[in-house]
Amino acid sequence: MIITLVKDADIACIDAMIDALESLDFSCQTTLGKHYTIVHVIGDTSRYDEKKLYAYPCVKSVVRIQEPYQKTQRQSLTEKTIIRVKNLEIGGREPVYIAGPCSIESLEQIESIAEMVAASEGHILRGGAFKPRTSPYDFQGFGEKALEYLSLAANKYHLVSVSEILDLNDLHLFEKYVDIIQVGARNMQNTALLKALGRASKPILLKRGFGNTVEEWLMSAEYIISHGNKNVILCERGIRTFEPSTRHTLDLAGMLYVKQISHLPVIVDPSHAAGRWDLVEGLAKASIAAGADGVMIEVHPQPERAFSDGAQALKPSRFSALVQDLKRLHKALK
Ligand code: PEP
Ligand code: MN
Repeated sequence: MIITLVKDADIACIDAMIDALESLDFSCQTTLGKHYTIVHVIGDTSRYDEKKLYAYPCVKSVVRIQEPYQKTQRQSLTEKTIIRVKNLEIGGREPVYIAGPCSIESLEQIESIAEMVAASEGHILRGGAFKPRTSPYDFQGFGEKALEYLSLAANKYHLVSVSEILDLNDLHLFEKYVDIIQVGARNMQNTALLKALGRASKPILLKRGFGNTVEEWLMSAEYIISHGNKNVILCERGIRTFEPSTRHTLDLAGMLYVKQISHLPVIVDPSHAAGRWDLVEGLAKASIAAGADGVMIEVHPQPERAFSDGAQALKPSRFSALVQDLKRLHKALK
């Protein structure tokens, strides 16, 4: 960490700051420059919050050298985490295709979608049981019953399952019924939930909050990993920008950047990013072409009758065709 001091910095302030840093086992080297004095802080600063230093009036600026997300960060150019769930590899050579309805509406609905996902060579069945809706009057999901339906449908068609958890008190249900536990955008910084998921036995699919930076996203992954669960899959699902024509703006640059700096697998959810079905296929292709480890697509046989997010749901036939396109695209580019 490098601290630049203000001009004519007060000696008592510098001494107090250095004493405080040295009491934390850092060593400090001071360099007198022509214009500014610089303090080099040596030691493992990954757990030190550099913003604290601005409390000292003698500090002009602080530059971190070590990132605060040590466990999430890639340590070498080739380091890569592959997450194995049943027979599936996430973050391996082939992208994973995840599909299913926004909400699980009935056993028949989720079974018919599961059959189609398996027939389309999809790998993971998604479905919401606990829904984080903006309005308290909107459909909130069928809860445990829906998780049970998801599990029955996924097992019947040999698919891996994923569903979103809202409340850490429901963790036992997720441990019982699902293969991968999703943390939604709205809960990305729910630290109590993240800590509890650090103790879970299932991999976590961590969506990026729509108002969060890449660094905050990685810090949330760091919460889960530092509490004991190394199996984290990151999911870019669009961020909020000034552009109103789509629900969110898919941050493919952020997806690529996070893949570069982290060893974790990164997938993309173009459905929640676009908010409209007619943009989903193009965004999914762009994601796979750019190197995402998979895509998660909302699918519904009758989108106009969906309990939630019908406007962004692909019909099953379009999803089947899309998977074939994505496979050809990936093969052509690898
Ligand atoms: C979802 O996947 O159904 C969902 C609510 O997504 P997000 O958290 O990205 O809004
Ligand atoms: Mn949805």
